[in-house]
Amino acid sequence: MIISFNRPTVTGNELRYIQEALDKFHVSGDGIFSKRCSTWLEKTVGVPRALLTHSCTAALEMAALLCDLSPGDEVIMPSFTFVSTANAVALRGAVPVFVDIRRDSLNIDENLIEAAITPRTKAIFVVHYAGVACEMDAVMEIARRHDLFVVEDAAQALRASYRGRPLGGIGDFSTISFHETKNFISGEGGALLVNDPAYVGRAEILREKGTNRSSFLRGEVDKYTWVDLGSSFLPSDIIAAFLWAQFENADSLQVRRRAIWERYHDGFQSLERDGLVRRPIIPDGCDHNAHLYYLLLPNSEARNRLIASLRDREIYAPFHYVPLHSAPAGLKFARTHGTLAVTEDVAGRLLRMPLWHAMTNEPAQVIEAVHSLIR
Ligand SMILES: *Cc1c(COP(=O)(O)O)cnc(C)c1O
Repeated sequence: MIISFNRPTVTGNELRYIQEALDKFHVSGDGIFSKRCSTWLEKTVGVPRALLTHSCTAALEMAALLCDLSPGDEVIMPSFTFVSTANAVALRGAVPVFVDIRRDSLNIDENLIEAAITPRTKAIFVVHYAGVACEMDAVMEIARRHDLFVVEDAAQALRASYRGRPLGGIGDFSTISFHETKNFISGEGGALLVNDPAYVGRAEILREKGTNRSSFLRGEVDKYTWVDLGSSFLPSDIIAAFLWAQFENADSLQVRRRAIWERYHDGFQSLERDGLVRRPIIPDGCDHNAHLYYLLLPNSEARNRLIASLRDREIYAPFHYVPLHSAPAGLKFARTHGTLAVTEDVAGRLLRMPLWHAMTNEPAQVIEAVHSLIR
């Protein structure tokens, strides 16, 4: 039996809700399912406004626009992240400035941020890797002191929290992904969460092609027109209908994922004790969402060998990010501050385990295979 890395989550009501959207004769953006989903997000994360987008990438681009990034501005972020975090900044002509990550959580090292600040720095984009929180108290304190925006790339972090506060609700803006590999999916999809009410109006306009259509639909203006920059960032209500079927089952999906995560964590305990792997470390105060389970092997040769031998057994366990500072576009559009030794070290040794909500005995098979291959 092939054990794939991911399988899209389906709860059973997706097609019914899509049919309902069709029956209501509203399949463009901001229909009833979009409203249900954004209200759910506002309540779940505790933010004044959630706007569905067609991807987290789109939400990151909106966040970059809301930060008013202009050519030459700088944004401090980790290099150990998905390309979209940096691309959104580079698309505005601004420069991603990469700093290193922490050895425990693999998140941006908050102690390295302040030294990377220059007069051109406009924002800090943090990434909650694997749904484990960055050290947000320190990040917010630095940002307030230097008058910088904070954007949480919470693509992986919905339903995780930091010192009791939901991730995605701490920075000025945050971005969520509903890509099929995430905990809650709509194939492709995302959301921008706006934490500062002062930016809600502009965010709505950016998302609606630079028009005040959202105000018009609420009856606040009697016609709508082009008022600012913008693009079409909103998804069809068909996508939102699919997503609603996931949100409605959020608690049970999370319980399932967490059980699988814990199964892996127990299963690899003895390998860690014997110094053969390192398991994820969850810092105090972080309640994670079991988005992904990874192991760190002693070196990249051991990691690559394990990937290949698992593949021979039809178990697909991939590595993760190629650090952005070493990628061709990273060399062209970004710069680094200080050494990125931890980023480079970790990226070469990390291996992600198959994880999807409907797994049954697959985790046991994966654990058994890893034990027999590296003992
Ligand atoms: C998945 C992911 C994205 C991109 O999400 P899309 O919805 O595919 O655009 C961005 N950042 C991080 C950290 C991610 O994990």
